[in-house]
Amino acid sequence: MKVPLLVNDFLRRAAGTYPGKLAVVDGPLRLTYADLEQRVAKLANALRSMGVAKGDRVCILSPNSHYFLESFYATSAIGAILVPLNYRLVASDHEYILNHAGVKVVLVDWEYTAIVDGIRPSLRTVEHWIAAGGDGPVPSGWRDWDELTAAAPLDAPPDPGMDEDDVVSINYTSGTTARPKGVMLTHRNCYLNAYNMIAHLGIRHDDVELWTLPMFHCNGWGGVYALTGMGGTHVVLRSIDGRKIFDLIERERVTFACMAPAVLRTILDYPDKQQHRIETRPRFVVAGAPPPAAFVERLERELGWQFIEIYGLTETSPLLTVNHPDHNVAADDWGQRARAGAPAIGVAIEVRDEHDRPVAKDGTAVGEVCTRSNVVFRGYWEQPAETDKAIRDGWFHTGDLAVWDANGTIHIVDRKKDVIISGGENISSAEIEDAIYQHPGVLECAVIGIPNEQWGETPLALVVPRRPGELSGDDIIAFCRERLAHFKCPSEAQIVAELPRTATGKLQKFKLREQFWSNRDRKVN
Ligand code: AMP
Repeated sequence: MKVPLLVNDFLRRAAGTYPGKLAVVDGPLRLTYADLEQRVAKLANALRSMGVAKGDRVCILSPNSHYFLESFYATSAIGAILVPLNYRLVASDHEYILNHAGVKVVLVDWEYTAIVDGIRPSLRTVEHWIAAGGDGPVPSGWRDWDELTAAAPLDAPPDPGMDEDDVVSINYTSGTTARPKGVMLTHRNCYLNAYNMIAHLGIRHDDVELWTLPMFHCNGWGGVYALTGMGGTHVVLRSIDGRKIFDLIERERVTFACMAPAVLRTILDYPDKQQHRIETRPRFVVAGAPPPAAFVERLERELGWQFIEIYGLTETSPLLTVNHPDHNVAADDWGQRARAGAPAIGVAIEVRDEHDRPVAKDGTAVGEVCTRSNVVFRGYWEQPAETDKAIRDGWFHTGDLAVWDANGTIHIVDRKKDVIISGGENISSAEIEDAIYQHPGVLECAVIGIPNEQWGETPLALVVPRRPGELSGDDIIAFCRERLAHFKCPSEAQIVAELPRTATGKLQKFKLREQFWSNRDRKVN
């Protein structure tokens, strides 16, 4: 028998098996699985009544919230595609994404309605504007989520007749191009990723997950589905704050959390740890970059909690590899524990050279991580040429450079793609360069990622002025701040006389990077 793998199964199971169990804690609000299922059905019916049909795009722009969680299941219940937006982007990014994805309905947290109002006239396809949360009345031009859903029917919406290869979400990610690309994830992708999360991260019915990860980031790495399917409890965290994190871990008896290394750092550096009585032994799953080995040791030795490193990309739903202490990895080999790890079930990985041939499995030969798996995305939304560049001969080329050993365990050493990862967020160097080139005093520029204690990497701009002496680094930073989201702006801009180029005029970014990374555990390609 073949039954399509549809993500709605996860909520259906939890609500059927554990209706009275605590599903969501969001501030003072506590929802059981029966409550969550009802809220989802009402939102799904409200969206249907607005004419949202199978394949239509609905976006959500919100920090983590119970509304966000509900939007995943309500859209998939009616066959719509969710487009979760990164709330740290600026209005022009949102405008681009909403138009590119052809979004019909925007679901927006009350704090973000003003930013959407600013671009309203240029949003070509949006027909409905729904605001979530907030204490006072909704701003004019918006409908209130709670009022709208209160009036909607409770019955399960009719089956939209979905196939497992239908797209469930489009997650925009900053890649090597100046514009973000829409990663189409299918039901099947997300389903199998959730299974691997459950299996490899040991997710159980009694897990309590603290949302230290933004839900927009690759659907909370799949936790939206994996934890729900097992009937665990979601503890919502709207913003990262050491005290709030420790309070919630203590009060809600948190057992599990996923995060970028920058969040792990905030947790480790929180000064009042001793004031909390934490009786659980949470598992912390880290990805986005390898954290310093000392973080792993501190988490396990000082706090007695468990550390797990994983590696993946939005394009792979995301889980590709996982690193646990096991037969191959000693529990106290902190450096080894911080690495990407071994392939998850059903994930074939090869580290390949520029001719697409596997490099030696000797821990030193560097190649590109390529993968073949059911978690690999369907393609970039309306960008078939970009899709064909990334998936060739049945293998997805990640743009990450790694070494591998005889067991197939990989260690990421650099990136081939021109992407900077700062605090777990992808930033396209090309996008920053595009912004800088708009400055009339700029002749040439290059943006690279440089090491940063807090964020892992931050962007550095190297700029050749048209006329010597007429530009300063501060001018460039101020110029970027007016055009780009804050987290994308260069933390430093240097004025230089020239940029290194090959004889054929190709910019040699590796030469620029060398001076900043030479003492680090990162090689240059
Ligand atoms: P995103 O698509 O935003 O999730 O970013 C994916 C990128 O993050 C990958 O292509 C890698 O460059 C990087 N990344 C994710 N996990 C790790 C890890 N464990 N170690 C090193 N780099 C990582």
